[in-house]
Amino acid sequence: MKSIKSTSDSLPGRRRFLRNVLFGAFSASLASARNLLGEVKQSYRQKKGHMYYRRLGRTNLWISEISLGGSPLPAMPILYQAIERGVNYIDSSHNYENGNCERKIGQVLKEFGRDNVYVGTKFHLRGNWSEESIINTVNGSLKRLDADYMDVCLIHGAADEKHLTDERVVGAFEKLKKQGKYRFRGLSCHSNHHKVVKEAVECGYYDMIQLAFNVSDIQDTKEDGEVYDDYLGQSGLRRLLALAKSKDVGVNAMKIFKFGGKKQNLEKYKIGETTIYQAMLKWVLENKNLTAAVIEMLTWEQLEEDLGVIGEPLSEMERRNLFRYVAENSDDYCHMCGECQANCPSRVKTTDILRYLAYYENYGKTGVAKNAYSRLKKAQTVSSCQDCGECERVCPYGVSIRKRIREAHKLLSC
Ligand code: SF4
Ligand code: SF4
Repeated sequence: MKSIKSTSDSLPGRRRFLRNVLFGAFSASLASARNLLGEVKQSYRQKKGHMYYRRLGRTNLWISEISLGGSPLPAMPILYQAIERGVNYIDSSHNYENGNCERKIGQVLKEFGRDNVYVGTKFHLRGNWSEESIINTVNGSLKRLDADYMDVCLIHGAADEKHLTDERVVGAFEKLKKQGKYRFRGLSCHSNHHKVVKEAVECGYYDMIQLAFNVSDIQDTKEDGEVYDDYLGQSGLRRLLALAKSKDVGVNAMKIFKFGGKKQNLEKYKIGETTIYQAMLKWVLENKNLTAAVIEMLTWEQLEEDLGVIGEPLSEMERRNLFRYVAENSDDYCHMCGECQANCPSRVKTTDILRYLAYYENYGKTGVAKNAYSRLKKAQTVSSCQDCGECERVCPYGVSIRKRIREAHKLLSC
């Protein structure tokens, strides 16, 4: 791996000053955190400046508990502001913003210094993928990042647990590792968590996992106690997080706001100054088995809203309000378990289609949703649905799948 050239001499005065103050102090604190492992064991997070940092499992990277998702990244001034306020991990993929996400991160790395911002980026296993195609994709990412290495190299949306130890995947990872192209291995997972996450932890080959984790699985009880009833059985996702923790595999949460989406008018769920998004974020950050919430901050308002929760615990009133929100908005919510898709005799990609529909409806990501849908073959869409109802029979949540995939087709195929 080449040595990293300092860029501090080319930084504008104020930014260089901020960088030195912020990262000088932070690097020193990390050194002491690493030297005091006993202290680290007792404390799952460390505060520096306004931000809290948590250890990303065995990677030993201390990353900001609010980290940035890159699909898409905000405009550069907002992005710089987020970094200046302590965000130090950015999640990307080779295809986010048609590669522009990685180009923007490349600018950030130059502006703030390669060692001060961590980047995780991903490759897909799509179509006729091979060891060579993975290596080419990773090299393409590094070119756009204008960097010699990435901190974490991830499989994007691993859905088949067998892929994790497939010789093409392992072969590519091993070659790239020898060339110093990445530091740690990981994967993101959108569905089939119970098999993929379990295998990722148990096979011992992966250092971190990024998975969907949000309030959709909580339910109220008569006593206002919090219970979990996800598709894995009660608290199944939580058990997976605990398993990962026990093997020192870092876990980042994504799709925090998936349930509600940023586009809905949810003013009525505000408690005092706390918006429902802030409550959702606080709820996720309560989980000590998670390292960071990877979220998008596209506007100045969102930046303030999201960074405003740092260090703020979820109050009991806010928790009860989350129960109310979940109860009132859970109809036809897909938990992405993958059961319907696995059992469809016509091989309709129901789970994928419902995810694209969520991009469209909840996040307002019209282009992303339509592009993803257009990549499906006609035979994988509602066009080959025989109306047998098997998907709805196996769905643990009673989602009106046939109706929803018809709606998706109407919205996403035009
Ligand atoms: S109703 Fe359609 S989508 Fe559902 S299982 Fe049958 S063929 Fe597949
Ligand atoms: S629609 Fe139901 S069965 Fe299909 S992925 Fe979603 S929750 Fe699972």
